[in-house]
Amino acid sequence: MSKKEKLHRTMGHINFKNLESMCKNELLEGLPKDIEYEYLKCAICIENKMHNLPFHNNRRKAEEILEIVHTDLNGPHQTTGYNKEKYFLSFIDDYSKLVKVYCIRSKDEVYDYLLQYVNEVQNLTGKTIKELRFDNGKEYMNGRVFQFAKEKGIIIKPCPAYVHQLNGTAERYNRTLMDMGRCLLSEAKVERKFWPEVIKTAAYLKNRTLTNTIERKTPYEIFFKRKPSVQNLKLYGSRVFVRIREERRRSKWDKKAEVGILLGYTDTGYRVLINNRVIIARNCDIIEEDIKLCGLEGEEDNNTEYKIKEKEKEDKRTQEERDTIKYDETSVAESKDEEQNRKSKRQVKRPLRFDE
Ligand SMILES: [Zn+2]
Repeated sequence: MSKKEKLHRTMGHINFKNLESMCKNELLEGLPKDIEYEYLKCAICIENKMHNLPFHNNRRKAEEILEIVHTDLNGPHQTTGYNKEKYFLSFIDDYSKLVKVYCIRSKDEVYDYLLQYVNEVQNLTGKTIKELRFDNGKEYMNGRVFQFAKEKGIIIKPCPAYVHQLNGTAERYNRTLMDMGRCLLSEAKVERKFWPEVIKTAAYLKNRTLTNTIERKTPYEIFFKRKPSVQNLKLYGSRVFVRIREERRRSKWDKKAEVGILLGYTDTGYRVLINNRVIIARNCDIIEEDIKLCGLEGEEDNNTEYKIKEKEKEDKRTQEERDTIKYDETSVAESKDEEQNRKSKRQVKRPLRFDE
């Protein structure tokens, strides 16, 4: 697996262009300055991501952190989470694009988590939120929320009706979280009921990914004023060996470690699915599986002798076709198209051009 493929997958299947830019500008502690010059197509990305919709929003943008915060409730989800979660609630700081998600069981919990978020970020930064925007689903907000905002001096701005759906910042952001989440779920091969872990990890990784902001830094660095590190990040779904405490081992022949699945990150360790429970593991060994998912276009067909022979036959055919076309003036336009096709089939490495 190349460095490029590994980083693309570890970072939650981020856009290749952003990944290159992050490496070039060393936006995370421990990122290589250069990654391979190769054209990759990722099967997981193709399967799980929607194409980005155009985003037009001429509403006022924040000029510093916490000036504007967007919030949106996503759900109810068809699959209930392993802790009975039905929704995820997200808060996005407009300036840094730092996101915080809470996975909740019912709409009634929105108020509690709003309080928690506001208190947490205000304590952390010493700044106060000036404006709170509900981009979608205003119905879950209630009198208590308005009362709280009034007490805290936060202006509440529901999104104007005409920019609903397509243009809400938080709603759009939640869709990108879902895209990344689907990729992660596909990597980890765990049951869907673990979606809350997947969504939280998507948010964690997105906070460490270059986003469209005024400062060309990661949301984490803009918000916390320090560079995050890539060192603790591992391929999602990797096997995690968690040491069993001495007192829990009944016999000297019992194994010294149990094996779990990497489902997320915390400040001090990893979130690991082990024996059908999610635990936080600090002392553990992680073995990253080396499965190739991305394919180099043009090389993927060279795996077997049979395919090589087929390709040779095809090349011979196209050569013959080209020879006939040479003498047929009327087919010039067509032959150009064909040549284009032939080129793309034969090329092993393409110039830098990425589409996901
Ligand atoms: Zn991918």
